[in-house]
Amino acid sequence: MIDAPDLRDDCFALPPGFDWIPVPKVFELLESILDVRVRALSRPLADACGNVLAEQIFAKCCNPPHSNSAIDGYGFAGFQSEYSGSIRLKLLKGRAAAGHPFKRQVPNGYALRVLTGAILPEGVDTVVLQEEVNTNGDELAFRGPLKTGKNTRLAGEDIKIGQLLFDKGHTLSPPDLAVLAAGGVRKLSVFAPLKVGILSTGDELINSDEDAQKGQIYDANRQMLLAQLKRAGFQTIDLGIVKDSPENIRGMLDKAAQNCHALVTTGGVSSGDEDHMSALLSSEGRLQIWRIAVKPGRPMAMGLWKGLPIFGLPGNPVAAFVCALVFAQPALRVLAGGTWYRPKGYMVPAAFSKSKKPGRHEYLRARLTDGKAEVFDSEGSGRTLGLTWARGLVELQKPEQSIRPGDLVRYIPFSEF
Ligand code: AMP
Ligand code: MG
Repeated sequence: MIDAPDLRDDCFALPPGFDWIPVPKVFELLESILDVRVRALSRPLADACGNVLAEQIFAKCCNPPHSNSAIDGYGFAGFQSEYSGSIRLKLLKGRAAAGHPFKRQVPNGYALRVLTGAILPEGVDTVVLQEEVNTNGDELAFRGPLKTGKNTRLAGEDIKIGQLLFDKGHTLSPPDLAVLAAGGVRKLSVFAPLKVGILSTGDELINSDEDAQKGQIYDANRQMLLAQLKRAGFQTIDLGIVKDSPENIRGMLDKAAQNCHALVTTGGVSSGDEDHMSALLSSEGRLQIWRIAVKPGRPMAMGLWKGLPIFGLPGNPVAAFVCALVFAQPALRVLAGGTWYRPKGYMVPAAFSKSKKPGRHEYLRARLTDGKAEVFDSEGSGRTLGLTWARGLVELQKPEQSIRPGDLVRYIPFSEF
């Protein structure tokens, strides 16, 4: 069992000299200050998908364990490096099939009926396709060229015994289970799921099953973030909406500190009169406001409340979603025992024009049409429809940029996050 260390009390403190933090620096800082917060436990293969490995995994056997036939045909010994011209072989009685090995040796000059997946009997190293031979039941003939070793799969050609299959911190996918099963691995040490609380803050917010009165809006962030973070493999805990009052927020933070490994909040992180989340964290917890040079977004509150790491995202739904994807999700992955991950982007031609001002790294809601990146026609941070329209983000990293149709831009599909 691996013990989960606590984060340093001031782990989110920025190095001196940082006012506006450039986005790449944010990634570097988050990667360096965060560490796993969950314990390791043993899981059978059947329950392991989506879990993060707490140990390196080595193959317990070879795959395939024995050399076998890749086709239905006839196997024989390759006493030449290549068969050319017309070849005649005597046919041995019996056959080798998958799961039913042929127990005797196949002598030189003889061939044996072999089926796909059958272990190559002693003496056989080459298989000729059944459609390419003539046989009368006693003899078979075919025409070369046919290379020695053709149509066979060698023992261990996929996986060798003792080979490193996966590193600690790797999140297991469905194809990984095929590798583990084929490599003879039955039990794995994985990290327990990271419990992430999701909390919305704001006096104006109500739940979607209530009727909105004047001055109230529906909480758009919480269900979105619960679903997004659940899909990303975390165990999410719905902490509801908390009013903009220090007492309520304090109570909710205490509850989260008892029940969660990390907390994601939205709203109340600026320095307005009703931004109690930041006020409370700085007076009674540990708060660091990271003024990130990013659009949409800007201030993000990172802090610790009784040891609980908190990611305070902006309230506007677009900013909340983008900051959750870009900053919170990779950070949570590290807390869950995973490795820091940067999503892959693809350079594609732009289908839009934009004149980007200097100062901020920008993420535009985007989708690909005929291989070109289109962007949503409004950059408004409250436009939820733009989020469903989009299939990914265009990332603009240069300080100042004038983009015309056809210029290459970096497109990151949502599936990459
Ligand atoms: P705040 O960061 O609390 O100042 O909120 C910024 C803007 O986002 C305000 O217009 C809020 O009403 C809005 N907002 C905050 N939280 C949510 C939410 N959960 N759903 C929809 N809008 C929100
Ligand atoms: Mg607010």
